[in-house]
Amino acid sequence: MAKLYIVPTPIGNLDDITLRAIHVLREVDFVLAEDTRTTSFLLRHLGIEKKLHSHHKFNEHATVRMVADAIAAGRSAALVSDAGTPGISDPGFLLVRTCVEQGIEVETLPGATAAVPALVQSGFPCDRFCFEGFLPQKKGRSKHLQALADEERTMIFYESPYRVVKCLEQFAEVFGPDRRVSVSRELTKKFEQTVRGTLAEVAAHFRANEPKGEFVIVVAGRPKTRKGDVAEPLFQND
Ligand code: SAM
Repeated sequence: MAKLYIVPTPIGNLDDITLRAIHVLREVDFVLAEDTRTTSFLLRHLGIEKKLHSHHKFNEHATVRMVADAIAAGRSAALVSDAGTPGISDPGFLLVRTCVEQGIEVETLPGATAAVPALVQSGFPCDRFCFEGFLPQKKGRSKHLQALADEERTMIFYESPYRVVKCLEQFAEVFGPDRRVSVSRELTKKFEQTVRGTLAEVAAHFRANEPKGEFVIVVAGRPKTRKGDVAEPLFQND
């Protein structure tokens, strides 16, 4: 039976494509690409010739049903985004949901994504974490942030280089300037860098060094108050 394959692609270093991703891209009947030019470049690099169809946030609502019908009719498809794992701050969710609802098999390959390496190399606990992706830019941003004020899990955010400093300053207001943060930029690329420190320190760093490239911001969760941290009254009145 034909399937929908979700195929992660490199976030910078072309060597991060998996052997299975190459195999699937070679075998499927057609590839759905967020940007056909970006994916053509990747396929050319891999020596694969394949029919590409656009699948991006501006047409996905209109095309998911057609794509699902094509798969149901026996043509297997691979969905790729410009970089990383489709569905993670990228188109994918709508198509997967439609396929699941129609009983079409979906197979998601593991592979490149920016959030996981940034989390692991932050040095913050990764046993529990929450992925927040891009915060709303204007409307609802501060409400969204306020809702995270007491979050104890490590938090992962995607942010554009133009808003990194502002974002760190807003985080300092909500979480406090001494909260630890780890900012990873240009992961897997030549100028990969991770800057760690308090929110105040890292914001100052990027005020002095213009943020360039792609960024993941990882914020430590609110420290748990342990028993004994809160001073108990020495004497209690009856
Ligand atoms: N689907 C991708 C994934 O699986 O991570 C995310 C796509 S989203 C449109 C793009 C954002 O991901 C960037 O703005 C940045 O926050 C993050 N990102 C992607 N590649 C990155 C890299 N090489 N280094 C740091 N962050 C990256």
